[in-house]
Amino acid sequence: MQQSKCPSCGATVFDQANAGADVREMLINCQYCGSQFTVSNPNYREPQAQSVSYTYNSTSFTYTNNTRPGTGWNQAGDWQHKFTSIFGLIMAYIVVVPAVICLGVGIFKRDGGAVAGGAILALAFMFFFLLAKASKKELKRRAAERGNQG
Ligand SMILES: [Zn+2]
Repeated sequence: MQQSKCPSCGATVFDQANAGADVREMLINCQYCGSQFTVSNPNYREPQAQSVSYTYNSTSFTYTNNTRPGTGWNQAGDWQHKFTSIFGLIMAYIVVVPAVICLGVGIFKRDGGAVAGGAILALAFMFFFLLAKASKKELKRRAAERGNQG
């Protein structure tokens, strides 16, 4: 049993202080002069090793992928689809001219590079054209939905 002396009067009789094992120091009263002072808690136990790894255990990666295919397309605003339908068509018609020229010249001159370039431009045309078409379709679908609801 740990013996403490009162720093004021030197008495060794104190209030029984019960502190939990997680408290390193506790406050006690001298029964003789009433002064308060702290002594090291005899019940104190060092935190066990498992509490050190607690933070690692509590770290959980809650990565949830909420994006389903088509969600972004459906959630895009009307103005986005309007922009896409117009911008897609503009891009398609910008690309279609060099695509035709490249393909024509490439085939005429039997130039494989020009044909390949023309094919890529033609693919770009298809991409923009279909993109614009899809956006227009989406806008039409929404208009129909509103018509049914209203
Ligand atoms: Zn005292």
